[in-house]
Amino acid sequence: MREGFITYKGRNIVFTDYHTHTNNSFDSKAIMMETCQKALENGVEQICFTEHFTLNPNIPTYGHMKWEKYREDIQTCQEAFKNQPLHILKGIELCEPHKYTEEYKQLFQKEHIDFILGSVHNIKDIGLRKTLAKYSRLEAYDLYFKEMLLLVEKADIDCLAHFDLIKRYSKEAFSQDDFEKFEPLIKKILSKAIERGIGIEINTSTVEALQEPMPSHYILTLYRELGGRILTIGSDSHYSEHIGRGIKEAYALAKECGFTEVSIFENRCATFVSI
Ligand SMILES: [Zn+2]
Ligand SMILES: [Zn+2]
Repeated sequence: MREGFITYKGRNIVFTDYHTHTNNSFDSKAIMMETCQKALENGVEQICFTEHFTLNPNIPTYGHMKWEKYREDIQTCQEAFKNQPLHILKGIELCEPHKYTEEYKQLFQKEHIDFILGSVHNIKDIGLRKTLAKYSRLEAYDLYFKEMLLLVEKADIDCLAHFDLIKRYSKEAFSQDDFEKFEPLIKKILSKAIERGIGIEINTSTVEALQEPMPSHYILTLYRELGGRILTIGSDSHYSEHIGRGIKEAYALAKECGFTEVSIFENRCATFVSI
């Protein structure tokens, strides 16, 4: 992994959105060109598209992605915005990438990719909402974090997406205390991520509904204290107008949790920009 310290266009701060979806994802109708236009308007200077993808035929994400269209969308936008202060990157968000590891390896040997997010959206092919309905909240949290541990032990990814996503689907009110009960397991996941050079993200999509991003201040601080350095920021937008939402606040939160830089990626290599 390439490490270094760069300034971006003569300044230290660069606003990035490293988690966003368009109609290349099964659950978004956003048009990439419009998202790029909105990114410019919203002050985003680097955008990394992270479309959903899986090789698991048993989950909803499967079968939507057409790589040729995705490639063309990216190239068309890069060409259209080449004279604008917007850097466009091609990423992917993989569901449970600790499964089908060999197949993903082969795929990304052929398909150029700048950045890979790894997510737990399903546990044993069952979505998180249904998992929460089936088990008690704490049992579901335990299953979720154990799946995250498997992911971080085995998958070839660059960052873990929305570390505590399960809270978004929790029907009951959640509190930080729930996650503190899982601190040994959370520390194990974070330590394994650090050991393997895998980062985490601040995902701002829950800020309105839950008044906090994913993960919370508590987990971000834990990651930093354990020596975690690789951190990306993403809106997880599925609508063009949401691009860059909450990014500036997330930079402030990152600082508060002890980070002095965020990561940017190209061709799966991380570089750091100060914040
Ligand atoms: Zn996701
Ligand atoms: Zn996403």
